[in-house]
Amino acid sequence: MTEKSNDISALKEAVLKRSEVLGHTLRADVVTFGCQMNERDSEKLKGILKTAGFELTDEEEGADLVLYNTCTVRDNAAQRVYGRLGVLKREKLKNPWLITCLCGCLMQEEGSADEVLRRYPYVDLIFGTQNIARFPGLLLKVISGEEQVLEILKEPAGSHESLPAERKYPFKSGVNIMYGCDNFCSYCIVPFVRGRERSREAAEILKEIESLVRDGVKEVMLLGQNVNSYGKGLPDPVNFAALLREVEKTPGLERIRFMTSHPKDLSDELIEVMASSGKICRHLHLPLQSGSDRILEDMNRHYTKESYLSLVHRLRNAMPELAITTDIIVGYPTETREDVEDTIDVVKRAEFEGAFTFIYSKRAGTKAASLPETRDSGEIGASFDRVLKTVQEVSSERLKRFTGKRMSVLVEGVNERDPKLLSGRLSQNTVVHFPGEASAVGSIVPVRLTACRGFYFLGERQD
Ligand code: SF4
Repeated sequence: MTEKSNDISALKEAVLKRSEVLGHTLRADVVTFGCQMNERDSEKLKGILKTAGFELTDEEEGADLVLYNTCTVRDNAAQRVYGRLGVLKREKLKNPWLITCLCGCLMQEEGSADEVLRRYPYVDLIFGTQNIARFPGLLLKVISGEEQVLEILKEPAGSHESLPAERKYPFKSGVNIMYGCDNFCSYCIVPFVRGRERSREAAEILKEIESLVRDGVKEVMLLGQNVNSYGKGLPDPVNFAALLREVEKTPGLERIRFMTSHPKDLSDELIEVMASSGKICRHLHLPLQSGSDRILEDMNRHYTKESYLSLVHRLRNAMPELAITTDIIVGYPTETREDVEDTIDVVKRAEFEGAFTFIYSKRAGTKAASLPETRDSGEIGASFDRVLKTVQEVSSERLKRFTGKRMSVLVEGVNERDPKLLSGRLSQNTVVHFPGEASAVGSIVPVRLTACRGFYFLGERQD
């Protein structure tokens, strides 16, 4: 494919022609499955589509293009995509002009794309995680009449950072600082579908953030599978703490978040930078996965129950107002009831402000996929319920300490259920609902937290 064919202007011409034939502006629906990295990729894909002349919609029905940005971290995310493909078939029968596309991690998984093309012959375009920058050219091929266009690359084909993005929120944005992962946690498919770890140059990241701030962004979320190992392999070596110091200097930027932090790489220097910062949010997502040393070793996580707890202790000492959230996997192969007790013990001692608790999902090709299952699903379900209950009790108790305080809230929107309320987030990432006018959306406002309702707060604006 030529460079020119990846140019959005060539696609724009083709889109315009098809719009004239069909007698309406083409509508595109991008559906995102999975994590924040996928959300950010989808913003880029939407930006390309909008620049090419598509109108964006949230409705599959009546759309001229439907794109699923898929996830494969857990089997149910993959099954949801396959389920939705059935719905797409109905749409395609109603509208033969409909362009159906799939991209993302599931497509990058060995064999998945070929299987999709065989089982769902009405899919027009499949591409992977490494070639988002080539989407304009690939889509042009489809519009020009090529059937079942497929391009999955093992190595990255160009950067898509300079492509236009259609942000979900005008006032906050994700910023990719690195791609891929080198850790090979035994249960995780990410290193296989997102490739080896690659950091972006600090200067390029800072330039992107400056430009986002000029465009009205107040809060950035620095994104990477393991942000704490940022900078390895760059010609000008820089670590994550040093990058944060530079990001902090951006005039007009008010809040900085980042995810995900691997506990094994979280340095004391980073804790210092966070503690002394006026912009880095008081929230840290620190995946635990398990509290059992035996399981952690098998998972290849490179920390122990006690070293994790010691890290939490250092973080809480340095920043008493910090909220720590985590990910927990229950039902990892060979996990025993004693291992689950260790996990529950960490939840209680770490006093997480929140946790995403998952039942282990076997992913083909990972090391854990070959381990024997030692407990049945009923037992695993009972353990899951126990962990979840502990998480809920601990986190709501923990969050209550903020009740009565006057805190800053970035207003994200009008509450979907009650239009008299606004909804926003504390620096701690906890959601707050409070009465207010829609004109405050996008501003950071002071709110007195009047009641804690488990995992969110009710409040009153207090200027
Ligand atoms: S750090 Fe582990 S869990 Fe996270 S993306 Fe890398 S391999 Fe997966």
